[in-house]
Amino acid sequence: MKSSDSRHSQPIPFRGYNVLKLRPRSAAGKGTDVAEARHQVTKGFNGRLMSARALAAVVAVVLALPLLGQEPDQRPDATVLCYHIVESPSDERMEISRETFRQHLQYLEMTGYNVIPLQHLYEYVAGKRESIPPNAVVITIDDGWTSAYTEAFPELKKRNFPFTLFIYPNIIGKTSIALSWDQIKEMADAGADIQSHSFSHPFLTKRRHPSLDDAKYAAWLQRELADSKRIIEKKVGNKVRFLAYPYGDYDTRVAAFAAKAGYDAALTCDFGKVKVGSNPLRMKRFVIDKRMSFADFRRYLGAGAMQLADVTPKPGDSKDPVTVVSARIPNHEQLDPTSVGLAVLSLGDVVPYAYDATTGSISVEIDEKPETLRGKYHRAVVWARDAKSGKRVEASWTFRFPEEVPQPQQPAAIAARLTPAAGVATGAPTANERR
Ligand SMILES: [Zn+2]
Repeated sequence: MKSSDSRHSQPIPFRGYNVLKLRPRSAAGKGTDVAEARHQVTKGFNGRLMSARALAAVVAVVLALPLLGQEPDQRPDATVLCYHIVESPSDERMEISRETFRQHLQYLEMTGYNVIPLQHLYEYVAGKRESIPPNAVVITIDDGWTSAYTEAFPELKKRNFPFTLFIYPNIIGKTSIALSWDQIKEMADAGADIQSHSFSHPFLTKRRHPSLDDAKYAAWLQRELADSKRIIEKKVGNKVRFLAYPYGDYDTRVAAFAAKAGYDAALTCDFGKVKVGSNPLRMKRFVIDKRMSFADFRRYLGAGAMQLADVTPKPGDSKDPVTVVSARIPNHEQLDPTSVGLAVLSLGDVVPYAYDATTGSISVEIDEKPETLRGKYHRAVVWARDAKSGKRVEASWTFRFPEEVPQPQQPAAIAARLTPAAGVATGAPTANERR
């Protein structure tokens, strides 16, 4: 199959870890994804580079699956996340804290998710791309508030996460909390994907505009969709192919107009996963709002339950020194051994871990100076792929390092976010996992 993006015409490596990078526009066409994937695999999954033979075996198995009559709905799906504002006073409903945003990204980065560009998901959905990596996530940010530049962009850039910004030109540069075209251009030059959120952010369906007759409505709608596309293309210089319906308000007629105005795909606010064969003009998203806990976030990403035993340190334990974090997976035979991983989120980076597929034991050594970790709660996450269903499963628990060194100024936000866990979570988040 032909990909419309020649930079990524090779099949996506199946075991890569965040292999699809935010890359500056000036670097387009340079470097190869394969080299990146090899580099990233050293960080991922089993914490060691997979041998070429083993990789070939995995690829062979994956390629053979369609021949074995695999159901289409067992092919990888993706979650599209929709953010609005990170710490800004304009719309409290959709505002999330800087810490929450960072926590989401850290979790995606460290626990086996693969952040992919919207373009790749569109190609996959439309049958123009063979596959996407497992646990695929697309990050989108709506509207065009300055926090996209001041808060979100630095965090996304730091992690090389690709993302799409849906803006509506009518607000750009017009208020103190709206982005400027210069800021948008800077993000685009660094690899951000700038797309359309209509021209002035109105409700788009006809029933919201009863005073307009059909002809007037058609002309108005055409302007909202086409003007936005034209202006963004002119100001930013990238091709605008995607539309996010304002307020998620759309119907068959709006979708048809979007296609007519030249959009390849359009995104809704309907909750759900995006699968191969989904209607590209009705792509579902998972809208993040401030009432959502971290446990909700993880649950909505779709992980099923996983059993853990013999966790060290024990939940709530604070014995010194903690040098190893480990757990045993009782039903490990049901898991794909190449997919099992462990991360301690507060370490902030992927630390190599050891997994013994014969016993289901997984562990990570902590050699970081414990001073920086003292007096805080830490969350360990274990994840894997169920061998039969291909679905992600996950469990987590929290533990605490003893507080011997006084913390002069522990930020209130962190203290409030982390609460002690009384027991080991088994996938379905419990009340004590909530922020
Ligand atoms: Zn919006």
